[in-house]
Amino acid sequence: MHADTTQRLLDEKVDLAQRLRDGHFDSVRAREGGLDAQFFSIWVEPELFGGGGPKAMKRADDQIAAVHALAETHPEIWQFATSAADIRRIVADGKLAALAGLEGGYAIDEKLENVERYYKLGARYMSPAWSVSTSWAGSSGDGVGEKRGLNEFGKQVIREMNRVGMMVDVSHVSDPTFWDIVNTSTKPVIATHSGCRAIANVPRNLTDDMIKALAKTGGVVNVIFYPEHLEPGWSEQKKKLDAEIAPAVKRASEEEQGDVVHKKMARDAVRREEYGKRLPPVTVSRLVDHIDHVVQLVGIDHVGIGSDFDGVQMTLKDLSDVSQLPNLTTELLRRGYSESDIDKILGGNMLRVMEATEALNH
Ligand SMILES: [Zn+2]
Repeated sequence: MHADTTQRLLDEKVDLAQRLRDGHFDSVRAREGGLDAQFFSIWVEPELFGGGGPKAMKRADDQIAAVHALAETHPEIWQFATSAADIRRIVADGKLAALAGLEGGYAIDEKLENVERYYKLGARYMSPAWSVSTSWAGSSGDGVGEKRGLNEFGKQVIREMNRVGMMVDVSHVSDPTFWDIVNTSTKPVIATHSGCRAIANVPRNLTDDMIKALAKTGGVVNVIFYPEHLEPGWSEQKKKLDAEIAPAVKRASEEEQGDVVHKKMARDAVRREEYGKRLPPVTVSRLVDHIDHVVQLVGIDHVGIGSDFDGVQMTLKDLSDVSQLPNLTTELLRRGYSESDIDKILGGNMLRVMEATEALNH
């Protein structure tokens, strides 16, 4: 449900048809891992592109164009999909389905009509905020979000998303925003890349009450693969390390001669190296602990996967790129999940939500 490879397409001009030597995702490794469909995140970094306005919109538009271009450049591998039926048809043809979802509502620029604009461009989900709150929705990533839920405009945005058939994503939003969303949306609510707070106590994750409320809407929690949101205590260790490596991160940024995007890439490269060397490895078994937890709370119909590949500086040790997805299946089988349960986890549940979102629209 969520990969940030979009930014690599745009900023690094990577060719996803080739096996890439770095990163977590390309067509070759996707096929090795048995992946059929991928939602590419249309992520607008508000500090670099603004929390709204023409720059934020252009950043989103450019990323959506990059996903369309992927399918146009490699039609023998990828096709752009906007519905569950598209995914089924594309996969039956032996190709990979590329989809788009907006991460953070910055690109709608506080205008209701832009929800439909992005729907028409192909986006099929949106989270109201990434780590920075918008004027209309609080984020879990800043102090503002602690008290801010949706304002009246924010509620209108959710109703408009329901109307056009765009799924509502609660990953990254604040607790008050989460509750306002489930109380406003008339369609299933999803988390595209989150974990369980009962296991890893970070604000980005969902409490048991939230998971129950989300399931009641008919939605799905897609569990993220990022150690910080899976492993107890990892986030605290990472914060400590971040403080220690801050001078090296700053130096890498200053030495990079490129634009703001390339400076961010230089900072992330240092983090990636240091996290790999100095933070404890986490395995796929911990990811399945979160899947188990959701299943125990609300049953098999409300859980899925959202890797966050190419959006994180550390992966699970035995799920370090998309080619290793079978290690997840193996662990699910080992824990006694049936093949039909596993079908639901690995996309079946999300196809159901997509169909419900589309069906109610007509
Ligand atoms: Zn994210």
